[in-house]
Amino acid sequence: MSYTSDVLELVKKRNPAEPEFHQAVSEVLESLDPVLSKHPEYEENCILERLCEPERVLMFRVPWVDDKGKFQVNRGFRIEFCSAIGPYKGGLRFHPTVYLGILKFLAFEQVFKNSLTTLPMGGGKGGSDFDPKGKSDNEVMSFCQSFMTELSRHIGANTDVPAGDIGVGGREIGFMFGQYKRLRNEFTGVLTGKALNWGGSLIRPEATGYGAVYFAQNMLATRDDSMEGKVCTVSGSGNVAQYTIEKVNELGGKCVSLSDSAGSIFDPDGIDADKLAYVMDLKNVQRGRIKEYADKFKGVQYLEGKRPWNIECDCAFPSATQNEISKADAESLVKNGCKVVSEGANMPTEPDGVEVFLEKGILYGPGKAANAGGVAVSGLEMAQNAQHTNWTREEVDGRLQDIMKAIHTQAYDAAQEYGSPGNYVLGANIAGFIKIADAMLDQGLV
Ligand code: NDP
Repeated sequence: MSYTSDVLELVKKRNPAEPEFHQAVSEVLESLDPVLSKHPEYEENCILERLCEPERVLMFRVPWVDDKGKFQVNRGFRIEFCSAIGPYKGGLRFHPTVYLGILKFLAFEQVFKNSLTTLPMGGGKGGSDFDPKGKSDNEVMSFCQSFMTELSRHIGANTDVPAGDIGVGGREIGFMFGQYKRLRNEFTGVLTGKALNWGGSLIRPEATGYGAVYFAQNMLATRDDSMEGKVCTVSGSGNVAQYTIEKVNELGGKCVSLSDSAGSIFDPDGIDADKLAYVMDLKNVQRGRIKEYADKFKGVQYLEGKRPWNIECDCAFPSATQNEISKADAESLVKNGCKVVSEGANMPTEPDGVEVFLEKGILYGPGKAANAGGVAVSGLEMAQNAQHTNWTREEVDGRLQDIMKAIHTQAYDAAQEYGSPGNYVLGANIAGFIKIADAMLDQGLV
């Protein structure tokens, strides 16, 4: 047995029935053997045992009242996973599938992702099994206020700074910020993803999608290629998907798909700026289903209950949720000519799908590197809040591009140095890990 397999066994034993967490830990540990054999001090100091155990897990009751006056009870969580290099930072997810295992996987990934951004941020994640779908604004506000009433005891601008994720956008951040301010009587940067007129940053809504495209651009540049003329498939139709399409269009590519949990649309003509404006209204204002896109525009196919991975493309941007690309989907993408996969979502590819991408030598950017643009601009929002200032769109976008380039370089160089050139999974895991492990060594047994 090796150190990494011992630790993985321990994680499985200690965290039963949390398969997503096991998957995320296993994917990272599998990459680390070369660095652990070079640095025995990591094992001597139990770095992996400590890194795989969250510093703190909070779980709480969220009671609220629906529009009919009926009492409802949900479960709230915050996982404060690792603060070795900065305050806990990571999003809140509101979705009926949320439970400890999902949030632990997301928080664990976040630790490495945040390390790669070059900014001083630790890793955390939180959320609730509350489903915002079909709820009125009033019900969402009632829930958010109750959720923040408990969460406010545990977070703070220098302690833990949550942001959005699935089911948590500008509306939810607003309600939670309002309640935090009221309870604490302070106006601080305790959440990111705020609106511009009360402490938000330009480019934060765009950052994850834009960042995933910048990461693809950086990967393509290693093969003297660009996004110009590329046909792209995109899954999801929320925040990440929308701004992925905006940036692909700007760089001369064409996106031909979108999806939600009910099915996908295939638009061979491409989702241009006007169609994207329709999607933004449909999803962010009307809160409708993506099927309506196929009813609205000519020549569009609706693929009921299907993901968009059988459509021919040069690049794929999975931007919906975890484990949305199976081995068969990965094979289908490669067979249909896909040469680039840049993950906007967290852990969207199942492990044997990742194997397919690596074996075939396509440019595969794992989520913790490719979608780090969102948290990076959250870090820039924190910096602006701390300085009581606002940067211009150009300034923030310029910094985002520099950060995505730096993440790419770190992952690319580490893969090279540790004997697997072009393997961004190994490179991102190793580069993210070393920074945290060294900080933990410096700070002693805590
Ligand atoms: P949104 O809530 O804005 O959109 C999520 C989209 O994914 C919706 O179209 C939703 O469809 C679809 N989706 C969600 N769950 C499922 C499911 N189980 N099966 C099929 N489709 C599903 O979320 P975001 O765009 O913010 O997040 C998308 C992904 O990107 C997530 O993996 C998230 O963790 C990741 N991410 C987000 C960041 C951010 O800054 N927002 C930062 C880094 C990563 P439906 O409406 O039917 O549920």
